[in-house]
Amino acid sequence: MVSGVMTDLRLEVLRTDVAGMPIEWIDYQQAAKYLALDLVVYSLGSRLYRIHGGICAKTGLQSFVDVNAIVATRGVHADTGHRRPDYVPPLTNRALFRRDSNVCLYCGQRFSVRDLSRDHVTPLCQGGQDHWQNVVTACKRCNNRKAGRTPEGAGMELLAIPFAPTHAEYVYLQGKRILADQMEFLLAHFPRNSQLLERQRRAEAAQAGTCHTGG
Ligand SMILES: [Zn+2]
Repeated sequence: MVSGVMTDLRLEVLRTDVAGMPIEWIDYQQAAKYLALDLVVYSLGSRLYRIHGGICAKTGLQSFVDVNAIVATRGVHADTGHRRPDYVPPLTNRALFRRDSNVCLYCGQRFSVRDLSRDHVTPLCQGGQDHWQNVVTACKRCNNRKAGRTPEGAGMELLAIPFAPTHAEYVYLQGKRILADQMEFLLAHFPRNSQLLERQRRAEAAQAGTCHTGG
């Protein structure tokens, strides 16, 4: 039986390796499994869940394990290849849209995911590649208007330069609902001049500005 300190069972646990390198997000059941298998070396952050076990015949006390926001595990490290110097995180629309804060990089408006698309700055038909440095978030309308042309060819201005996130930034982009202590932990692994942070701060400032002026 699980009693959630935060009662929301969808909260995710940030799993790291022993050295504290973020690896992935797992649910409380996976975290409980690692705890039961004694693969968790240490836990950090707030307690998310308390999972109750059986009652000890000798003491009459019920056993439990606590699941914290961050767990460092040994022996179960997904080989994402993130230690290689040439590592580039996999490109998915979900991570791409989050990199750009759901903002279309042509019209500068923020959209819901279903109205967004992946635009190849240099179109594939003109030799452009399907990689992070050549893709941006575009609303469907802007993407249709640009069609198979470069921004210059279509007379459209690209509002920001696309970039590939680092491994820790990618883990951040994968998170659904990141808690404050998890965020603090992730930030410590971001590069000093994180392009992602810079991008997100600008998007937030623009959003705040829009709300302000828009009343
Ligand atoms: Zn647009």
